[in-house]
Amino acid sequence: MKLIKVDKKSLDQGIEKAKSAYRVFGPVKEKSDHDFKLLDKEQLPDLDFQNTRLSPKSVIYPQSQIMFQYSLDESKEDCRIMKEVENVTSPMAVIGVRPCDALSFPIVRRNFDTPEYQDTYWVKAYEATTFVGLACNSACGTCFCTSAGTGPFGEEGLDVLLIAEGNDFYVKPLTEKGESFVQAAGWAGEVESAAASKIEEMKTAAEASITATVDTDKLRDKTTLDLYDAPFWEEEAFSCINCGTCTYVCPTCWCFDVQDETCGKSGIRMRNWDSCMFPLFTHHASGHNPRDVKYQRVRQRFMHKLKYYVDKYDNGIQCVGCGRCIRLCPVNIDIRRICNKMNSFDAESCVCEATSS
Ligand code: SF4
Ligand code: SF4
Repeated sequence: MKLIKVDKKSLDQGIEKAKSAYRVFGPVKEKSDHDFKLLDKEQLPDLDFQNTRLSPKSVIYPQSQIMFQYSLDESKEDCRIMKEVENVTSPMAVIGVRPCDALSFPIVRRNFDTPEYQDTYWVKAYEATTFVGLACNSACGTCFCTSAGTGPFGEEGLDVLLIAEGNDFYVKPLTEKGESFVQAAGWAGEVESAAASKIEEMKTAAEASITATVDTDKLRDKTTLDLYDAPFWEEEAFSCINCGTCTYVCPTCWCFDVQDETCGKSGIRMRNWDSCMFPLFTHHASGHNPRDVKYQRVRQRFMHKLKYYVDKYDNGIQCVGCGRCIRLCPVNIDIRRICNKMNSFDAESCVCEATSS
């Protein structure tokens, strides 16, 4: 295992140096929250955060993305012809990705990059990006990543892992992409012989600090229709105001809508994040809506993440335990409670053994 130790000044200098080869994104503080932004020259990421309000998914999958443009000017030869808009795919690096968010990229990739179908916008951006993670030494109270296939020092989905220790950082390249970034940053340096065991101790302590857990072991064995018809959905959905916050902040929510916007004689075709929590999401042109009742939309969100995805990919749940939807839901709807209910639901007796996290 290659391990480099750099102090904060060398870390910052390296990030600045890497900007000559990469467009570098990182957490920037705005008011009381951090969000991922493209860093300007001499602007450094602020690594003093627990987790960002929005996940880094927008770097690969922007909230609004122009795909085509067209003209409605009859005097032009290309009138009404859709022309693809070139999206920038030069190398990018995202600094400060928490391990939970890093796992969201392989989860989303199962949907956007399959042998039969590729979302070329997502795939090109993903392939152009190097993910530089930041291990969590202190998790939020709502985190449950250790129940969701990763952990505060998890490496899946990352190219480099940074581990902060006081004013120093251990740099652990994990892939070829990661090695290239470390070279571009010019990070080099000795590690003390006790470094590996020190990191192991930090990892154990960080994992132990995550006390919220969910049970997911029985989800795959449940009958889909039993969960679909379970009696708890209306009660769970009662307080939801369908604001969509949970889906917008979620690193693994991938739904979008495509729309044309015309202004005068020119227009664009763009895609925008959408949310299964909005009534319009499934509103058909005929006027029919298969999910016109609130509990049906809430049920869809949880069934997708905790049952349909589990059954389709046999690779865990479509959730990384980042806790954002729990922290930011205005009415305290908690995926941990619902996951435990689904996992323990007994269709014969209509009872959930576990009802809270
Ligand atoms: S954040 Fe809460 S209230 Fe808003 S749509 Fe999601 S579950 Fe409903
Ligand atoms: S469902 Fe909630 S806890 Fe899970 S990844 Fe999405 S925002 Fe994070």
